[in-house]
Amino acid sequence: MRKIRTNLLNPVAPTQTEYLENHLIAWDDDGIQSVRPYDPTLDKDAQDRTDLLCLPGNIDLHTHLSQHRIRGIYEPSLLDWLQTHVYPEEALFADPAYAEKLSADFFQALFAAGTTTGVIYTAPFRQACELAFSRAKLGGARAFIGMTLMDANSPENLMQSTDQAFRDSVELHEAHHGSSPLLEFIFTPRFALSCSPKLMSRLGRFVQENDAWLQTHLSENPREVSEVLKLFNAESYTQVYEDFGLLTPKSILAHAIHLSEREMELLAERRCKIAHCPDSNFFLKSGEMDWRSLEAKGVQIGLGSDVAAGSSLDMFYHAKMANYRQSAFSLGPELLFHTLTLGNARLLGLDARIGSLEAGKEADLCFRKLPNREIEPQNLLSALCFCSEEFPVVETVVASKTVFCTLEGQLHQSSWN
Ligand SMILES: [Zn+2]
Repeated sequence: MRKIRTNLLNPVAPTQTEYLENHLIAWDDDGIQSVRPYDPTLDKDAQDRTDLLCLPGNIDLHTHLSQHRIRGIYEPSLLDWLQTHVYPEEALFADPAYAEKLSADFFQALFAAGTTTGVIYTAPFRQACELAFSRAKLGGARAFIGMTLMDANSPENLMQSTDQAFRDSVELHEAHHGSSPLLEFIFTPRFALSCSPKLMSRLGRFVQENDAWLQTHLSENPREVSEVLKLFNAESYTQVYEDFGLLTPKSILAHAIHLSEREMELLAERRCKIAHCPDSNFFLKSGEMDWRSLEAKGVQIGLGSDVAAGSSLDMFYHAKMANYRQSAFSLGPELLFHTLTLGNARLLGLDARIGSLEAGKEADLCFRKLPNREIEPQNLLSALCFCSEEFPVVETVVASKTVFCTLEGQLHQSSWN
């Protein structure tokens, strides 16, 4: 049993966060056992970490393991960014040694950023996806992992045959679905431009019949949208996915920026989830997702880093970008914090297990150092959302196991027991 005396921030609702100062959080292999005020008579054996803030681990709803190394490489817009930087980088993952090393680096960086659950794209090679699963398991990550699919209009060295893309995905699904409480396979057509109608309709049928997860990109950039409409002779981008059966309650669609009212209604009817990636949208000048209209239509919105068009795995940085990206209204700290913890957990059907600090939940936790400057308790969450670099991560825990710990955390650990 780990017992820590510390300070907690706990998301209760989109408009409410609890700040629990000088509390005890205790967990063992079965999950969080208690969260209550510190009691000096009962809790003599607790480790004193009142210099820290304890939070639920962050959840990243959209990120590319296969682009981890090319963060911060400049390109003015999406399609050129893919051709010039992303495709050559992803081709390197044909080499298992490279795929293995980058997978290890990625999960280490994910944990160091305080993220405990990732929804992840890997390169279009089955072995690279398998290696990401092995690394996730070895490191102790909670993750949804998919092999990116490209069977049309793509560079030769990344192209899969339609049959192979479908068969490998189904076999990966069979190998990993339900094989671990922490890991899940997710079908991953990259976007409409890189997938044939035949592949998308086979995927649509399979995910519907098997209640499987699927992720893709939707309506990110105006040039991409116009190419999709031309290629499929379609009335809208969303309708293309609808026609192939790709829109289900287990579909996570990244970006969703240039949508008509009808497209938003369709996404709400199909109960699809949107992964909003504001930093990436700034970087590639893709546009501004209409948070308010999507929300008003009842579409469920979560947050993703979209590394590498997003420059960081720190989800609090992306919370700040989500606030900045909306030019007409302000997303407050409570809503942002809720979105990247309990909200994202709810979108993944995991809110009964993770996303907040409650006895009975699995212990997915992040401990961050409190800044040296004095911050009133009511302003702590706001400071965390807008100045997260002042709150360095010292320990990350997934399903009760420490997956990341700084030297400072280890020094404190040595005095446990
Ligand atoms: Zn993406």
